[in-house]
Amino acid sequence: MSDKIQRRSFLKAAVLGAVSVQAISVAQRAEAAAMPALDPNDATAKALGYIVDAKKVDTKARPMYKPGQHCGNCVQFVGKATDAEGGCNLFAGKSVKGAGWCSVWAQKPGA
Ligand code: SF4
Repeated sequence: MSDKIQRRSFLKAAVLGAVSVQAISVAQRAEAAAMPALDPNDATAKALGYIVDAKKVDTKARPMYKPGQHCGNCVQFVGKATDAEGGCNLFAGKSVKGAGWCSVWAQKPGA
């Protein structure tokens, strides 16, 4: 096989892979929007200090919170930073508010 054909095959596979990843991401976001909202009184949610509005975090009880942190820019959030709600890898089958927060928050790369 010539270098030109190998390069063309590689590029084709790379483009198909990128399209597939994007399609999965869109499907995951649509799925997240259809999921029931996480109840802040759920035992795990409560233990992690999940709150629907990060601006109302009790900073005495959760001193790790820093202004600007919210679900939308958390690495566990399934969605765009500006989405009103999305999935969370910690709470399968539930949606969380983009403006929410919990003590497991970690910066999403590039967000
Ligand atoms: S892990 Fe991240 S996305 Fe999930 S509830 Fe906590 S802060 Fe929000």
